[in-house]
Amino acid sequence: MAELVFFSGTMDSGKSTLALQTDHNHRARGRQGLIFTRDDRAGVARLSSRLGLEVQAREVDDDTDFWEVIGAERRQGHLVDYLVCDEAQFYSPEQVEQLARLVDENEIDVFAFGITADFRTRLFPGSARLVELADRIEVLQVQSLCWCGARATHNARTVDGVMVVEGDQVVVGDVAAGADVAYEVLCRRHHMRRMTADAARRLAPASDTMLDVR
Ligand SMILES: [Zn+2]
Repeated sequence: MAELVFFSGTMDSGKSTLALQTDHNHRARGRQGLIFTRDDRAGVARLSSRLGLEVQAREVDDDTDFWEVIGAERRQGHLVDYLVCDEAQFYSPEQVEQLARLVDENEIDVFAFGITADFRTRLFPGSARLVELADRIEVLQVQSLCWCGARATHNARTVDGVMVVEGDQVVVGDVAAGADVAYEVLCRRHHMRRMTADAARRLAPASDTMLDVR
């Protein structure tokens, strides 16, 4: 039975690395797959991991119809056994439904990788639909850590070094509209307190006593 599996995690949880590993494992078994991504840091139609691995992928945009794309592949006689779908949080709910249909009607395994919630702690629409439809959800437990040492469970956005909790859901890249936009993973406690590593450092006493803003 084919499956729709959603591998979810925070930004530094190693999702793209696992996406590449998953593709490798299935390919090594002689299965045919396609890799999709959207807005990867490495550029259009690339899937990259923070460990430096990078492969060619198909870029998803608003107009991508997975049902059509895979249908066209099959009509050309290409076998498609599985799909690796990275940055799935950026896919639309409709695109996630197309993926589920490919699983059910064409017996294609779909391995989707994505961040669950945005910097405001709200679900991305694509991730919400994946949570609703997936046969299985795997929460990646790669130990990405908050600056305090606790497990990082939330994504924070900083603009010019200051944590923000409002703004567009998707801002990709390092510089947007002249501002320096960056992301940092935090534990929930420090996300709620808007305490990034920088902010914590600024609060630290001048003496060398242990920082304790927990
Ligand atoms: Zn923390």
